[in-house]
Amino acid sequence: MSRTVAFIGLGHMGGPMAANLHKAGHRVRGYDLAVTPGPGLEPAASAPDAVAGADVVVTMLPEGRHVLGLYDEILQVASPGTLFVDCSTIDVADARTAHERAATAGMRALDAPVSGGVVGAEAGTLTFMAGGGEAEFAEARPLLEAMGKKAVHCGGPGAGQAAKMCNNMILGVSMIAVSEAFVLAESLGLSHQALYDVASTASGQCWALSVNCPVPGPVPASPANRDYRPGFAAALMAKDLGLAANAAKAGGVNTELGLKAAEVYTAYAERVGMTEDFSGIVRTIREKSA
Ligand code: NAD
Repeated sequence: MSRTVAFIGLGHMGGPMAANLHKAGHRVRGYDLAVTPGPGLEPAASAPDAVAGADVVVTMLPEGRHVLGLYDEILQVASPGTLFVDCSTIDVADARTAHERAATAGMRALDAPVSGGVVGAEAGTLTFMAGGGEAEFAEARPLLEAMGKKAVHCGGPGAGQAAKMCNNMILGVSMIAVSEAFVLAESLGLSHQALYDVASTASGQCWALSVNCPVPGPVPASPANRDYRPGFAAALMAKDLGLAANAAKAGGVNTELGLKAAEVYTAYAERVGMTEDFSGIVRTIREKSA
């Protein structure tokens, strides 16, 4: 069924996601503060203009404060019962506030952050992790599947963001562990390939090693082979670990390694920002080693 979608936030991720919705036959009204909507999208003059008459509102914005600020602007304009799908990566607490504000305004909502990066957004192979009601997930599903290869309903409001930050905390910690192991191997005279051949088929196996391997050679497609051009930028990893750290502190959870990883990636991202893949952390570890 073709829907009328207001798509707000047409940056690195939102631009190609909106294009894929259009390709799948939906009518897409696009708005961004700084980016002109791409081919096939109907340009809107403002966020409220994009939302007027839309069945579904998709947002892909930098942070929670942008999402909540925008919701304050558009919730009053949308038709009652409009489905608001926020795909941005934001705090679980902000996501729950967004759900509450949508409900108070007579709207329905889903948090649906993504994994897969710009490459996945362009290819339409993102994974969505959604939080909200069954009916809302069922209604959003065809749209999510037009932008991605997989959509998982993780639970109630905020559960999508919770899944995203828990997954990325595993990823951040495991990338540091894999990188430390490679630098330790170097000092022990063990080759990268030998460590890879053992660990990738033994109990050290993980995505950070076998897909995004932080040293050049063993996995030809990994960012290490192109001087750490992202991939998944260090600044985005630092942001996601910061969200996990906030949630851990709020819940009184003892995520010692998660907090340490947030610290390590924040310092690294201050130097390289969006220019390096997060696997470039291996160079920092090497530099700091005697
Ligand atoms: P981006 O900065 O490229 O795009 C965000 C866009 O939002 C910008 O074009 C900006 O102008 C626009 N914007 C901000 N406030 C607005 C408002 N009030 N109204 C209209 N437009 C507004 O960021 P991105 O890389 O596309 O990331 C978007 C979200 O996706 C972030 O939450 C990020 O953490 C998450 N994410 C990014 C990646 C990635 O690889 N880039 C991967 C997974 C998740």
